[in-house]
Amino acid sequence: MLMNGSVAIVTGGANGIGEAVARHLSKQEVKVAIVDLDQESIDRVVGEIKVAGGQAIGVKADVTSEADTARFLDETIAAFGQLNVVVACAGIIRDSTMLTLDKATGKVSKKMTIEKWNDVINIDLTGTFLTLRDAAERMVNGGWEGLLVPISSVNKVGQIGQLNYSSAKTAIELMPKIIIGEFLLRGIRNIRCVAIAPGYTETAMLKRMNQDVLNAILADVHLGRLISPDEIAGLIGYCMQNRALNATTIEITGGLCYPRGIAK
Ligand code: NAP
Repeated sequence: MLMNGSVAIVTGGANGIGEAVARHLSKQEVKVAIVDLDQESIDRVVGEIKVAGGQAIGVKADVTSEADTARFLDETIAAFGQLNVVVACAGIIRDSTMLTLDKATGKVSKKMTIEKWNDVINIDLTGTFLTLRDAAERMVNGGWEGLLVPISSVNKVGQIGQLNYSSAKTAIELMPKIIIGEFLLRGIRNIRCVAIAPGYTETAMLKRMNQDVLNAILADVHLGRLISPDEIAGLIGYCMQNRALNATTIEITGGLCYPRGIAK
C-alpha cells in the first residue's frame, strides 16, 4: 500500500500509542483523522501535525457508540475522499483481581466490579469491533484498498489483575484470523487485517498501573526498558507497506519473559 496519499483513522489518537501512530503516518504523507474523547487533546495533536506540514482532522467521538463510529468514519471520508487504514488504539485498563480477601478473616472483602468489567469490554473489545466493522463496510463499498489494525497486548496470554483486559485482548488477537477468513469467503481481497500486541509501552496508561508491579515486570524485559510508542508507530507504517503481512498478530515487546526466563 502506498503511504503517500492514503487516508488513516486512528482512534485514541490524541494520546500515547495512537498519537505516535498519527504523527508517524502524517510524516509519510498519510492523511490522518484523530478520533478521541477530549477535544483539547485532539486539537493539540491535529494542530501540531499541521504545523509540521501534515494533513489532519480531529473528530471527538466515543468508540463504544455506533452513531459516533458512523460519524467519525463519514467525516473522515468527506474530508479526504477515501479510507485506507484504521488503527483502533482507543483503550483503557481498570485493574483488579476478581476477588480480594480480608487478611484477618480470610473472607472475600471485594470483587471486580461490573463497572470495571463492562468499561474495559465495551471500550477495548466492542469499540474495536465497531471501528473495524464499519470501516471495513466503507472500504468495501468505496472499493478502496484497506488495512485494519486492532490493538491487542502481550497480556492476551493472561495477566493477573486483568481478567477484564486480558479477556478483551485475547479476543482481539483472534480478529485478524476470523476477519480475513470471512473476507476470503466473501471475495473481499483488497482489505488486510493485522493486529499489533505491544508489550509495556511508555504511555499514560501505565501510570495507572501499580508501579511496584510494573517495575517487577520490567526486570523480565530483555530490552531492559519500556517500548516507545514511536517503535509501535514504525511497525504499523511497515505493515501498511508490506502486503504479505495479513491475518496475524505481531508482538512488539522488547522480549518480555516470565520470571525464570521463558519468553511470553
Ligand atoms: P492511552 O495513552 O491512555 O491512550 C488511549 C486513548 O484512548 C486516550 O486518549 C483515551 O482518552 C482514548 N479513549 C479511551 N476511551 C475511549 C473511547 N470510548 N472513545 C474514544 N477514545 C477513547 O493508552 P495507550 O497506552 O496509548 O494505549 C493504546 C492501546 O494500546 C490500548 O488499546 C491499549 O490497551 C494498548 N496497549 C497499551 C500498552 C501499554 O503498555 N501502554 C500495552 C499493550 C497494549 P482519555 O485519556 O480521555 O480516556
